[in-house]
Amino acid sequence: MPAWRTISLWMDQLDEPLVARPSLEQDLDVDVAIIGAGYTGLWTAYYLKRHKPELNIAIVEAQTAGFGASGRNGGWLMGNLLGEDSLLAGLSPPARRASYDLLHGIPDEVASVLEREGIDCDYRKGGVLYCAARYPEQEASLRGYLDSLYAQGLNEADYRWLSPEQLVGQIRIANPYGGIQATHCATINPAKLVRGLARAVERMGVKIYENSPVQQWQSGSLSTAKAAVRCRWLVPAVEGYAVTLAPLGRYQLPVQSLLVATEPLSAATWDEIGLNQGQAFGESSRQVTYGQRSADNRLVFGARGGYQFGGQLRQNFDLTSSEVELRRYLFSELFPQLKNVEITHSWGGNLGMSRRFRPHMLCDTRSGIALSGGYGGEGVGASNLGGRTLADLILERDSELVRQPWVIAQGGLDALKAWEPEPLRWLGYNAIIQSFIHEDQTLANPGSAPWRRKLASRVAGFMEGFMH
Ligand SMILES: Cc1cc2nc3c(=O)[nH]c(=O)nc-3n(C[C@H](O)[C@H](O)[C@H](O)COP(=O)(O)OP(=O)(O)OC[C@H]3O[C@@H](n4cnc5c(N)ncnc54)[C@H](O)[C@@H]3O)c2cc1C
Repeated sequence: MPAWRTISLWMDQLDEPLVARPSLEQDLDVDVAIIGAGYTGLWTAYYLKRHKPELNIAIVEAQTAGFGASGRNGGWLMGNLLGEDSLLAGLSPPARRASYDLLHGIPDEVASVLEREGIDCDYRKGGVLYCAARYPEQEASLRGYLDSLYAQGLNEADYRWLSPEQLVGQIRIANPYGGIQATHCATINPAKLVRGLARAVERMGVKIYENSPVQQWQSGSLSTAKAAVRCRWLVPAVEGYAVTLAPLGRYQLPVQSLLVATEPLSAATWDEIGLNQGQAFGESSRQVTYGQRSADNRLVFGARGGYQFGGQLRQNFDLTSSEVELRRYLFSELFPQLKNVEITHSWGGNLGMSRRFRPHMLCDTRSGIALSGGYGGEGVGASNLGGRTLADLILERDSELVRQPWVIAQGGLDALKAWEPEPLRWLGYNAIIQSFIHEDQTLANPGSAPWRRKLASRVAGFMEGFMH
């Protein structure tokens, strides 16, 4: 039995035995074959079955349901898409508002499925706090971000400014400069969601085959080392693992994000910190930090990881001491009382980044291939939208889902933008990340001269421009 419990805190906390489902041993003929039992594959199967129960669906998974990012993430279930502002920029104000409402409704849609299917994944809709928490420049950058949201027609019911006093009413950080609260976000235990969804689709008649890596795929079929599946529709749902299914790796590169979890903290410590309504939180540097208070009262905290030359998958997520200590440093800046706390779990995962840094939901009727991905680090909610959207596209249901700007209904994979060849990607990625690290170190040092601070931010902002 593979050591699946070591995948993440969340997988370790499952109170079910992690028994492998059967692998694919015999050839099959199905309506829809899905590669990958993460959220995208499972949500797609779920909504297809809801709309058309007689469909014959098989999911073929390399390891176990939740082995990928879905069993490892930070548990922010957001009503957002990466790059949504640029995706929606061309729409009329009413259409844009309707698209935002669709996105903001994702956590509630997930909650209704959890209720219907009896899935307990510690769902708490406490919103998200983006905190200006480490240096004063963060306040200006968050205020600028809020202005840009309001310029797109969003309002205080969607995102509201929190003064330092209002912020510490929810999260008591050492240096509160202010923050933004968004309501459309819940925190969850990610592994409980993915495992619960897998059981739900099985109850609906979907077959899941585990320990069955797909080696070949093409229009109408896939094959593993032991058997083949023929299908009318094929849905590769492998996100950060696209490099295993050529030519998908041209369009979705694996990048890593890494997390730590503390021991359960005492009630007295949480009285000092707050976060008692399931709020997700992050500090607003370009380190991309994300945290939550877990249902069993740990601090779970993550930050951006790396990119491996050639877009190779990172396989070993035993974090180095410097990877762990960077995350300890970042959360201790917010909560100095946790500086020496015991870290019981550290892990990470591969996530999928598209060249346009925004997701795509694609359906090609001619080849019978449909896919949703490129969520970046924001796929917990987006994958639910992706599953719903692919189901409507495959079943030719006319809905608002299929008319969104992230939907690609023509051109197949060729409609996606390919990544540049190496070494450009590696050089580019590292130049950008180094500028972010340099900015962070400069701004976090109160002794940095004003001109140095400005220059570091200008350079990082300029480099970030290449990501859009
Ligand atoms: C560390 C980390 C933290 C994150 N935190 C957040 C967060 O807090 N909020 C948020 O919104 N998003 C977050 N994300 C992103 C989010 O988790 C993902 O976008 C989402 O889980 C993607 O789901 P998926 O089903 O598309 O892919 P995955 O969950 O990665 O599933 C893909 C599946 O495909 C299988 N597979 C791969 N290759 C093959 C093959 N050849 N044959 C068969 N099966 C194959 C894998 O084993 C895997 O089970 C995070 C990601 C990571 C890695």
